[in-house]
Amino acid sequence: MTEELFRDDAALASCEAKVIAINEHGVQLDRTVFYPLGGGQAGDSGVLVLSDGTELTIADTRKGTLPGEIVHVPAPGQEARVASLTPGQSVQARIDVQRRQRHMRFHTATHLLCALIPHQVNGCSITADYARLDFHMSEPLDRQALTASLDQLIGEAHPVRHYWITETELDANPSLVRSMSVQPPRGQGRVRVLEIEGVDIQPCGGTHVSNSAEIGAVVVSKIEKKSAMTRRVMLRFVEAGELAGLSQTLDF
Ligand SMILES: [Zn+2]
Repeated sequence: MTEELFRDDAALASCEAKVIAINEHGVQLDRTVFYPLGGGQAGDSGVLVLSDGTELTIADTRKGTLPGEIVHVPAPGQEARVASLTPGQSVQARIDVQRRQRHMRFHTATHLLCALIPHQVNGCSITADYARLDFHMSEPLDRQALTASLDQLIGEAHPVRHYWITETELDANPSLVRSMSVQPPRGQGRVRVLEIEGVDIQPCGGTHVSNSAEIGAVVVSKIEKKSAMTRRVMLRFVEAGELAGLSQTLDF
């Protein structure tokens, strides 16, 4: 089992840890700030810094074959360095913060989208370059109206918080379960709840920014009819250079 530090503090960029296992898939640590691919959110990349200062580049993070395992997947070409690792060895685990920040901004934006489109989500992918959500619905969606509504929710600066709730507490609060846009998974003993104050509440294990304003400028870049009952919504960031480029175009 790896202690999942990112669950309670998504802002943590690094931590001290000990190697607990090494196999052909990668390196497991006793604790980590690396989020493993899951819930649609991409796995983190970054480095493991060894005690002599050398760095092992981590290209991806995945769940292991057993529950609770997190595997840090080294980038190719570092076989000798991986082979030199031994269980018990101390390392510093450090994520690529800029990439993770984009995951957190997009992930939080997808929750806003869930609040704006009250239909079941049956597919989700959150990367550094785009976010994609598939809604189970047949009605058409208006790209510009959605972008404007998203922009408004982002600008309203809603606080984002998470908390853990036991299944017993959930059972005692049926109204909380009813208010969730997705029903909580059962059988784990406790559920992690993500709340965007006044906007959305749902069970979620991913990483998020702490206020909707931190999402920044996002546009609905595309809406596709994937099937009779699926509407796919794509989000992308408006990059700083893009705005400058736009004003330059207008100047000419
Ligand atoms: Zn989430």
